Amino acid sequence: MTDLSELAAALHLPTEPVRAPMFIDGKDFAGASDWVTRKSPGHGMPVTATLRASKGDLDLAVAAARRAFDDGRWSGLPGEQRAAVLLKVAQLIRDNVETLAYLETLESGKPIGQSRGEVTAAAGIWEYAAGLARVVHGDSHDTLGPDMFGLVVRQPVGVVGIVTPWNFPFFILSERLPFALTAGCTVVVKPAELTSTTTLRLAALLTEAGLPDGVVNVVTGLGSVVGQALAEHMDVDMISFTGSTPVGRSVLAAAGGNMKKVGLELGGKNPQIVFADADLDDAADAIAFGIAFNAGQCCVSGSRLVVHRSVEQELVERVQAVLAKVRVGDPLDASNHVGAIVEARQFDKIRGFIDAGTRDGAQLVCGGTASSEGERFFIQPTVFRNVQPGSALAQEEIFGPVLAVTTFDTFEQAIQLANGVPYGLAASIWTRDLQGAFKSLRDVQAGRIWVNCTITGGPELPIGGVKQSGIGRETGRYGVEEYTELKSVHVQLGNRPRWIA
Ligand code: NAD
Repeated sequence: MTDLSELAAALHLPTEPVRAPMFIDGKDFAGASDWVTRKSPGHGMPVTATLRASKGDLDLAVAAARRAFDDGRWSGLPGEQRAAVLLKVAQLIRDNVETLAYLETLESGKPIGQSRGEVTAAAGIWEYAAGLARVVHGDSHDTLGPDMFGLVVRQPVGVVGIVTPWNFPFFILSERLPFALTAGCTVVVKPAELTSTTTLRLAALLTEAGLPDGVVNVVTGLGSVVGQALAEHMDVDMISFTGSTPVGRSVLAAAGGNMKKVGLELGGKNPQIVFADADLDDAADAIAFGIAFNAGQCCVSGSRLVVHRSVEQELVERVQAVLAKVRVGDPLDASNHVGAIVEARQFDKIRGFIDAGTRDGAQLVCGGTASSEGERFFIQPTVFRNVQPGSALAQEEIFGPVLAVTTFDTFEQAIQLANGVPYGLAASIWTRDLQGAFKSLRDVQAGRIWVNCTITGGPELPIGGVKQSGIGRETGRYGVEEYTELKSVHVQLGNRPRWIA
């Protein structure tokens, strides 16, 4: 096969699948399982091959992470040295943007320009997290009287399992892994079975950057087998899961065995709330982006438009005009805005929602067309008006480029509609009225709010959801704290007062 970096530079498909073994205790690991081939959803051709770990393979990975944590080869290093390794990782990611982006696009179907952007942004997250290695700290209490001193010591939680989804494989991993490492934890990563290769390439870069063996291990395979076993594992101290709400629920139950700490980043049904005084051109462009970006396969997709009745028609027309210019197609063609749907199952699921929308009496404004010719899966961005707030289109996470439009007359109705779903991941508010914006950002139930913008931000602010969108936060200084435990220490100064005089 031609060198991978040459293929990436030429944006040619590989002539045979790129093989990526697992990574345990600092070495490639093949185990006894067979290679499973992944076809590019944008090309219908086999592009990569990965392995399906057994529970035994997982046990080896957890044991390696356990040893690496317990002997302090990573947690015992000064923050300065941990930061130096993470900064080197960031540099290596930057040096390998083209190859990582190429592999990401082949497996996920996202446009190549978007993949390059995500990999580059991920390097920035590693840099940010590196700095935190020297900042994370505990607390002290000198108010407990002359004979007592209090300390709150912040320590790494231990061995962490990180389970990631297929929609942003490299970026989402980079919103979690460097923070766990900054805290001093060791890790077993289980990437999504459809998109494991960039995680495995990253593992090699970690070693090149000087990360000690065993600190990060990657096992691949089925979520129902190896993901479940990781969540249940008695020797894992925390599980950080990013994926769908139903699977998150089962991870929560599985974690109960040893009461491991749990972080869950789950689904969303995120409203774009547009008040009558909003800048409709700004909003229209963002609404089109919010539903079409990553073909709508985005936890924070703005999949519901909740708009004041007086501007609904005008706004929908403007959104339609923007979407008419969106190019959907070959993800390796840098001129396309939207690539492929990740796989047949997801494609069928989205089409099912489009059919249900029509059946339920919603009005199809644009899109609705889908093609799966040659095992290449594309769906045109789709907008439905007159969607009933209780219908599947308005309530369920479609995870595709399908926008459901509902209208309101009063502020209270807007908030009620925005909050009227089981999720609470993200929301966008569009208004020129400062007071209205603040009142809504207080009342809307979501972990993340964007005012007059959407799907933006860096690692400084925390991410996560309320209600059935998750538990805990990632990124920001809060993101590191998630991977720590607090220990309270009372120090007696002088003699302890006697119980029996
Ligand atoms: P998924 O829940 O099907 O799978 C996610 C990961 O969990 C995969 O690695 C999968 O192999 C693994 N898994 C499957 N069954 C498991 C089990 N029983 N135990 C442990 N792990 C298991 O989700 P997906 O289809 O890969 O991703 C799409 C979903 O992820 C959407 O619901 C989306 O909203 C959500 N998501 C959330 C965020 C966030 O930050 N909130 C980010 C991205 C995606």
